[in-house]
Amino acid sequence: MTARVLVVDDILANVRLLEAKLSAEYFEVVTAMNGLDALEAIHRTKPDIILLDVMMPGIDGIEVCKRIKANPATQHIPVVMVTALDQPEDRVRGLEAGADDFLTKPVNDISLFCRIKSLVRLKMLTDELRIRAETGDVVGLVAKSAVQQSDHHGNVLLVDTKSSSADRVSGFLSEKHNVHHVSDPAQVVEIAANANPPFELIVISLDETKFDGLRLCSQLRSFEGTRQTPILILVDQDDQPRLLRALDMGVNDYLMRPIDQQELMARVATQVKRWRYTEQLRMNVKTSIELAITDSLTGLNNRRYLESHLGHLIEHFINRGKPLSILAIDVDFFKQINDTYGHDAGDRVLQELAARIKTSTRTIDLCCRTGGEEFVLVLPNTGSDAAENTAQRLRKSVANKPFLIGPQQSVSVTVSIGLAGLGSATDTLDLFMKRADSALYTAKREGRNRVVQAAA
Ligand code: GH3
Ligand code: MG
Ligand code: MG
Repeated sequence: MTARVLVVDDILANVRLLEAKLSAEYFEVVTAMNGLDALEAIHRTKPDIILLDVMMPGIDGIEVCKRIKANPATQHIPVVMVTALDQPEDRVRGLEAGADDFLTKPVNDISLFCRIKSLVRLKMLTDELRIRAETGDVVGLVAKSAVQQSDHHGNVLLVDTKSSSADRVSGFLSEKHNVHHVSDPAQVVEIAANANPPFELIVISLDETKFDGLRLCSQLRSFEGTRQTPILILVDQDDQPRLLRALDMGVNDYLMRPIDQQELMARVATQVKRWRYTEQLRMNVKTSIELAITDSLTGLNNRRYLESHLGHLIEHFINRGKPLSILAIDVDFFKQINDTYGHDAGDRVLQELAARIKTSTRTIDLCCRTGGEEFVLVLPNTGSDAAENTAQRLRKSVANKPFLIGPQQSVSVTVSIGLAGLGSATDTLDLFMKRADSALYTAKREGRNRVVQAAA
């Protein structure tokens, strides 16, 4: 994994040292030696991650971090504050300013690379989601998501086999969050996977004498329901090897014992906030995908979805040699309904027709509105006789009951339906749809309000 890293420090020797270490690991390095240069370099070079010295003349690192995090164009870039060992309060100030992590000078190589890699990995994911969510924005489908997420009242699962340390940690966290303590590690995966609302962070106190905490981390990472949930581990100072394994596994953050209350609170808040931000992006992507494949008037799927999905279905059903049928449905003399009762009445007819199509089909059937008053119904595992029955049932459900278009007004509607079945191995989406369309055309020509089967 490689990434562009911006190193900011007012002392040249510090810049050169970090630059050398990062370049040796094939990171691309950009440098700046004061706050203003840093802000300029961010806009010019769009780094994936920023290593930011706290103490600098002019605008200091804390202020630079605040500005990065206040700007919607840059707030997603992870910032790691580089703090002096004798200024522990800088860590907390940095995290409160929105920094994603901090490193203490002199910078330890292994934790430098683990931290950077874990933040870069997270950034790759959020970039991907941001691009998709923004595509949604461009077409006006989804509201902006980059609102600041709250970091209060997080749902936190605490795994700790020792009741004394669990009481201490949960005492700290309960001031701001909802904490659920589990002392039996064997129950964790099930509790976390079924939690509703889901946990926003899992804090695991590593204690090698009672259970294998790394195994638990790896289980949580492999289960669908907990794969994305942030994990923060509490480790002993001398437990560096396990810490590195854990970070490799995708654990998001760690704290060394003895636990400092302020640092714990700041790190938990950062994880909760990040989780909420990525969740919001995920939701936006989901909504924009749903909107992109849905017809807004009827709520059925649209032509775009039909064409992509039916392509997959054809392949699947040809491979398995199972029957697949489609119905092309078109309202008879729909133009007259519009001309007589108005466009809004026409819309109501289309909505009611969509509802009748839905009620006369199974959940596995795919119902689409493909054009003005044209619909396509895809019937998986359905041969021509069963498809004919479905089509006739639908035709009758339209013709037998007038459509309500106003409080006291209704109109009689009929539809014509062309039916086609999936042919041999050489059948294509295009041919399949054309057969259904030409059967529909025949139904129109022969007098409408009827079902016609395409020749095989
Ligand atoms: P046929 O029996 O041959 O299908 O006749 P038809 O009148 O149904 O067919 P035609 O294709 O001539 O007319 C379709 C009409 O559907 C014309 C168009 O204005 C109308 N239309 C298309 N989209 C919408 C829509 O979203 N809402 C409404 N109310 N009307 C629509
Ligand atoms: Mg029509
Ligand atoms: Mg038409």
